Amino acid sequence: MAVSGVAIRGQRSLLRQIREALAGGGPAQGRLDMVTRIIALSMVAEVCSLYLRRSNGEMELFATEGLDPGAVHVTRMKPGEGLVGEIMRLGRPLNLADAPAHPTFSYRPETGEDPYHAFLGVPLLRGGRAIGVLVVQNRATRTYSEDEVEDLQIVAMVLAEMVASVESGEELKGVELAPRRPERLKGSRFSEGLAYGVAVLHDTPVAPSQLLSDDVVAEEARLEAAIEALRRQIDGMLEGQHGLVDASYDVLESYRMFAHSTSWNRGLLDAVRNGLTAEAAVERVRSEYRAQLGQARDAYLRERVHDLEDLNDRLLRHLAGDGAVARELPENAILIARNLGPADLLEYDRTKLRGLLLEEGSTASHAAIVARALDIPCVGRLQGLRDGVSEGDMVIVDAESAEAYLRPRADVVKAIQARIDVRLQRKAEFAKLRDTPAFTRDGVKVTLLMNAGLDVDLESLAETGAEGIGLFRTEFQFMVSETLPRFSGQTELYSRVMEAAGGLPVTFRTLDLGGDKVLPYMEAEREDNPALGWRAVRMGLDRPALLRLQLRALIAAANGRALRVMFPLVSTVDEFRAARALVDTEIAWAQRRGRPAPARLDVGAMIEAPSLIWHLDALLPMTDFVSVGTNDLMQYLFAADRGNPRVADRYDPLSPPALRALQAIQTACADTGTPVSVCGEMAGRPLEAFVLVGLGFERLSMPPAGVGPVKQMVLSCDREAARRGVSALLKSNAGSVRNEIETLARKLYLAV
Ligand code: PEP
Ligand code: MG
Repeated sequence: MAVSGVAIRGQRSLLRQIREALAGGGPAQGRLDMVTRIIALSMVAEVCSLYLRRSNGEMELFATEGLDPGAVHVTRMKPGEGLVGEIMRLGRPLNLADAPAHPTFSYRPETGEDPYHAFLGVPLLRGGRAIGVLVVQNRATRTYSEDEVEDLQIVAMVLAEMVASVESGEELKGVELAPRRPERLKGSRFSEGLAYGVAVLHDTPVAPSQLLSDDVVAEEARLEAAIEALRRQIDGMLEGQHGLVDASYDVLESYRMFAHSTSWNRGLLDAVRNGLTAEAAVERVRSEYRAQLGQARDAYLRERVHDLEDLNDRLLRHLAGDGAVARELPENAILIARNLGPADLLEYDRTKLRGLLLEEGSTASHAAIVARALDIPCVGRLQGLRDGVSEGDMVIVDAESAEAYLRPRADVVKAIQARIDVRLQRKAEFAKLRDTPAFTRDGVKVTLLMNAGLDVDLESLAETGAEGIGLFRTEFQFMVSETLPRFSGQTELYSRVMEAAGGLPVTFRTLDLGGDKVLPYMEAEREDNPALGWRAVRMGLDRPALLRLQLRALIAAANGRALRVMFPLVSTVDEFRAARALVDTEIAWAQRRGRPAPARLDVGAMIEAPSLIWHLDALLPMTDFVSVGTNDLMQYLFAADRGNPRVADRYDPLSPPALRALQAIQTACADTGTPVSVCGEMAGRPLEAFVLVGLGFERLSMPPAGVGPVKQMVLSCDREAARRGVSALLKSNAGSVRNEIETLARKLYLAV
């Protein structure tokens, strides 16, 4: 791996002198002057200058040793201008033997910097954001050594936090230590909803008071103990993998490699020996590796940045002590993170968490899944989020428009607050409908079920009044755990779910992994077309041990009660036949051991692959029920990746081809008396659900938040009128019939 060791040889006393200079009394200017003098002396540099960012984005010379003092507060660089601007833009050091020869060099006569050639500038990073630049210069034409670069980076790190703590000083007024202007970022919607609240950074920068240690020996011991605990944890995770089919050691191995790598360890130790606290050392080494790996040409190496981030977070948790309690949240917290690991979100107090903003992630990422389960609005893939927001900023999560507003203006807050109020009001109305059965005006019962996948979903059953779980996504348990759930863990979850359902039907879908749902601990071969690749039941049939273990757990959890199981992404009848045979094998296995078989067993197929639509006559007689997974069915019908925002919204499920496909399924099921439900997201949107009812579907399974609105629609709907209206539109030659359906819904006075 092309990562050099981080060897810090900066003088511990230098950091201490800086701390004393900054902590001392007197005007801030005097203290900064002193700091530049100390650094110049210690680094044997003829010049040391400090530039800080003003709120208009300009970089201002705030203090210097060696340049003309008259230039202080006079020399200002526009964003991106000169070498200083370049360092701000890159967020990493610039080390030049002959600065004036560099293309971005900007000559400022007032500074008197003509005689200086060698130039080393490093950004002052705070919370991942550059708030200034620290520069040293020498007359000679030479390149600074790697050690010198590293020394200056440590100094810059300490300086950044300390400058932040003297911000209130008069002379530092106008310095932009944190962004202040309102910003609006566009991202992707991961979880529905709206929220306004106070930003809480998941990975907070180390506080200045915690940067320098008082007792190096004790700090070294603390660091070593934490590294040791981290290694044990990773080894334990690796051991947990024994005996599992397909379990890949790749990711864990790369964790182990880092945890044992001498250069990583030496970097941490050196930083501590030079006076940093263990926490500051972790941050210091983290940013070093982040910069190096982030620029690697090799995509594999670049991806290792994520492993390293996770490893550093783990180490910080060990430093905080195992029993680290969850952070205290303000009443209306919006959590801000680059990404969240398995179970991270669950560690926060749910009653205070209003929303979640992520710089990275995907709709299938852990955080997104958990956010949806908790009904917390979440917008992800927000580029520049972590740089743009500070702890305590007011922020808006607008998952309707997939946007984040940072420090919004009062009028924006007012508008969003009004929308939040409307939502709350509607929620209260839906809650009142909880116990009302969903009959259409002409007396057709529509069964409303909910989709679930985690323990936290179960509360929604009672809250929404759903009549059961129409889709339990068993892979979520796998996606939010750190290691492959064992038989006992699976059985426990399934029986908890059945117990919580209290006799209401629960349809368990077997593992739907692969595609965009990849497990960190499972081998995932790179595929050109993951959505069309080795996933769901295909994986289960090729590696039957995993699927059989799951079926065994389901049968054990049912413990003699009724059991409903369905298979995802069945594309041929042979696949269904083979999968069903595995259920029979497992039932026979349980019975041989004297364990109870389910009182009633229903085995179904999800209709997600269009191929089945033309083979329903063969499929339906083999199944006890089917469920239409419209999310996947639509992506395959329209050949448009559902996870790719550029193409996902290009087609409309409210269009003749989609509706005809759905009608074909409904008709075939009605003709054969096969129970059928629709369990894709469209079943949870009132207008789409209206069309499904019009097509004749009477069982809809949806995200919990959809149950209330869809029930309101059903209660206001006349099925016969819906049927007539929708069947006329099936013949349309328009690409989408959404407008016509909206008009029809209005004409029928529907609550959509
Ligand atoms: C679907 O594809 O419609 C579905 C319900 O399954 P998932 O969203 O989990 O792929
Ligand atoms: Mg699906």
